[in-house]
Amino acid sequence: MPNGAFCCNGRTYRAPQRPTLAICVDGTAPAYLEDALARQLMPNLAGALDGGAEMLIARAQVPTVTNVNNMSIVTGVSAAVHGISGNHYLAPDGHETQLTDPSALRAETILAAAARAGIGVLAVSAKDKLRALLGAGGVPSISAERAHEQTVGGLDGMMGTEIVGRGNPGIYDPALSAYALDLALAIAPRVRARLVYCSLTDFVQHKAPPGHELVDGYCVALDERVGWALADGWIVGMVADHGMNAKTTMDGSPNVRYLADILDAAGVVGARVLLPITDPYVVHHGALGSIAFVYVSSSEIARAGAALAGVSGIEAVLHRAPAARVFELPEDRIGDLVVCADAATVLGLRATQHDLTGVRNGLRSHGGLHEQDVPLVVCHPLLRGDSRELRNADLFDLLLNFTA
Ligand SMILES: [Zn+2]
Repeated sequence: MPNGAFCCNGRTYRAPQRPTLAICVDGTAPAYLEDALARQLMPNLAGALDGGAEMLIARAQVPTVTNVNNMSIVTGVSAAVHGISGNHYLAPDGHETQLTDPSALRAETILAAAARAGIGVLAVSAKDKLRALLGAGGVPSISAERAHEQTVGGLDGMMGTEIVGRGNPGIYDPALSAYALDLALAIAPRVRARLVYCSLTDFVQHKAPPGHELVDGYCVALDERVGWALADGWIVGMVADHGMNAKTTMDGSPNVRYLADILDAAGVVGARVLLPITDPYVVHHGALGSIAFVYVSSSEIARAGAALAGVSGIEAVLHRAPAARVFELPEDRIGDLVVCADAATVLGLRATQHDLTGVRNGLRSHGGLHEQDVPLVVCHPLLRGDSRELRNADLFDLLLNFTA
C-alpha cells in the first residue's frame, strides 16, 4: 500500500494530500444547488465548476433518511453491510429504538480507519443525534446543536462555542448548518485534523423549496464557507444524504396514508407499523416519510400485502428478503413488508398518532424511492476515466483517490 494509505470495508484510500473536507448537505436535492447556481448565489461553487469540477448525480441508499445515508457516506458501503436501516428500528427485544448508538454499526467508518493509520480526523454534525454514530471507533466528534457543552481532545477543554467565538443557533434555526461548518473549519487546524466530515441539517429543505429566501440564505452561507476552505487550501466535496419532495394534497395539507388504520380496516390482526424516518426532530417532518416497515405474522402477510398494495399513493410493497436484496438492507433490521409511497405521498401509523402541528402549512419530506437522486460535487477536477454509477457512499473515494 502507498505510504499513509489505508483500507476500509474493502476499499483502499490514499492519505489526504491536503486537508480534506467532506460535507453532507442534508436533504439537498439537486434542484436546490442548480437553482442557486443559476441565480449566481454560489460564486465559489460556480468558480470550482468553471475550473473543471463537475456536479454529478449520485444515488442514495433506501430508506432515504439521514442516519442510514450518513453511515453509507462515512463507511463507503451499503446498509446491508453497515447495518443502519433507519433512524429508528424494531430491536430484537421488540422495542422500537433510535439507531443512534455506535454499537449498532456493523462496519468501520472511513474516519476511524484513517485515524488508525495515524491521520488526524474530525466529525462534526449539526444534529446531535448523529454525533455518537460519527464518533464510532474513537473519532473525535462534536455537534453544533450541543457545541456549548461539547469539546474534543486537543482543545484544552474549551467548548465548541468558545472555539467558534459565538453562540450556537438552536436545532430549528436555519443558521445551524453554517454554524456546523464554522465549527469544523475552526476546530480542524487546532486539532491537526486532515480528514474532516461535516454533516449539516435539512431543516431549511424541509421547510422550503428551491428559490425560497430561507434556501437562498442557506446556499449563500454554504458557498461562503466552501470558498473559505478552498482559499485555505482544502480539498472540498459535498453530497446529500437524500433529496426532498413536497408531500401535500391540492389544498396544501399533508398527503398521508395511515397504514395501521388501513390494516385494521382490512381485518389484519397483530400487525405493527414502523416508520424508519422517526427521530426527535418532529417539526421537520412529523415522523412522516415515504417508506414504512410492517411487521406481520406469516398467516396475515398475504392479506396485509394485498390491502396495502391497493392503496393509491403506495407504489411498491416488497417482502423482507427481496427488499433486502433490491435495496441492500440488513434483513434482520427491516420489516416483513417494506412499503414505498410515491413521490407525493407519506406513510403514517394511525391518524390519531401523528401530531401534524409542525407540518400543517406544508409537508416536505423524504425516505422513499423518489429522494434517491442527490448532487455530488467535488470542487476540483476529478482524475476519473470510468463512468460507473455513483452513490453518495463514493464521496470519500472521489475526494481521496481521484483528486490531484
Ligand atoms: Zn437527512
